[in-house]
Amino acid sequence: MNTCYTADLVYTSGEFRPGVHIEVDDGQIIGVTSTPPEQASVRRFPGHAIFPGAVNTHCHSYLSLLRGELDELPLAPWLAQVYREVAVFDTDAAYVGALLAFGEMLRAGTTTVADFFYLNGAGNANVRAALRAAHDLGIRVVMGRTLLDAEWGGPATRESVPAAEARFRELAAEFQDDSLITISPAPHSLYGASRAMVELAAALAEEFGTLWYMHVSDSASSADRVRRELGGSEIGLLDGWGLLTSRLVSVHGIWLTEAELDLVGQRDGRLSYNCASNMFFAERIIRLADITSRGIRTGLGTDGAASNNALSILRDVQIAGLAQRVQAGSVTETPTDSLIRLATCDGGEVLGQSVGAIQPGYGADFIVLDLTDPSLLPTVNLKSHVVHSLSPTAIAHVFCGGRQVVRDGRLTGIDQHDIAHRVNALRAKHAGLRRDQER
Ligand SMILES: [Zn+2]
Repeated sequence: MNTCYTADLVYTSGEFRPGVHIEVDDGQIIGVTSTPPEQASVRRFPGHAIFPGAVNTHCHSYLSLLRGELDELPLAPWLAQVYREVAVFDTDAAYVGALLAFGEMLRAGTTTVADFFYLNGAGNANVRAALRAAHDLGIRVVMGRTLLDAEWGGPATRESVPAAEARFRELAAEFQDDSLITISPAPHSLYGASRAMVELAAALAEEFGTLWYMHVSDSASSADRVRRELGGSEIGLLDGWGLLTSRLVSVHGIWLTEAELDLVGQRDGRLSYNCASNMFFAERIIRLADITSRGIRTGLGTDGAASNNALSILRDVQIAGLAQRVQAGSVTETPTDSLIRLATCDGGEVLGQSVGAIQPGYGADFIVLDLTDPSLLPTVNLKSHVVHSLSPTAIAHVFCGGRQVVRDGRLTGIDQHDIAHRVNALRAKHAGLRRDQER
């Protein structure tokens, strides 16, 4: 029997509306109606509102284990320190880091995440462990399986092109029937992956019918480095190689020039905007209107918790809204409706997933908001509250693919105390391992 969900208000077709019923079958929304369908069990949430789950277009789950340790480093020394730290990460670290990251996201109302997972130097065991965490908690994941062959990656992350190809195929085959997991190639960047590796990623995406993900113009120094080492701009090089297509999701893109943005727009490109992380690194606030006006599909990403440091899209959309106002010097720069879309359905579109909206054909991914929470009062202008004042305490329940993954603010898949204990025990073990290495 199908299940039907209803609350005082349901956000659908751009408005919070009363008397709306969401009919769900097999993890999918199959109907949004004003009367409950016959032959469905009805779950009512009086005093609550239902809103689509938020979509995070970029994260590195295992970096949650390094939260707060690298707060005042610019990107280049930050990267060097990250690679020193993760050299001791094993499958347990990949699993526990992902439990922490995905659990935090679910509790903060994010139901879909594009993870970007580097720790593949020894094969697929680590990425499999992260996906097991996703499965245990019930979050929807686009797993950007990173391909990295630059010398600087070290044994934890570095692979040859043939090894990366064989392992990608193995992982994609394993998860091909999983309704919540999509495996996508993710060459690290043009300074982390060779041309052959990037061409492999684009070819695999084409063959498997997925998108592919890459850091592009993520900092002023990396854009310069690519120009110096490869003799061109990142977007110019990709276009010259015939790889700049609608399958590429460029991550960051904060230093793209006007001409590069034009080209991304002409090629029907996609972009992951990581506002809080870009500001954390004191890099730049790009003007969103310069991107979206060119037809570039754009969603919001948190990036990892070692450079943000919270993994909440509904917090970052507040930050993004403020940043855009300051950047443009205008209070009308990013209207409420556009911020809601940025945090939800636009992110879904960037990832090529039918998520982030309460409408038939979409995943049954939604959050149930407590209308007595102070951050949502008074109960008028609720759309504004969601993007300008929402507190995580307002998020009572979360559903992903029809499964309840948060109940009364707590994860249903794994006990929060268990995650906390494992995270702290692991970091103590890592500190010991690093001391031994340095001796
Ligand atoms: Zn990243």
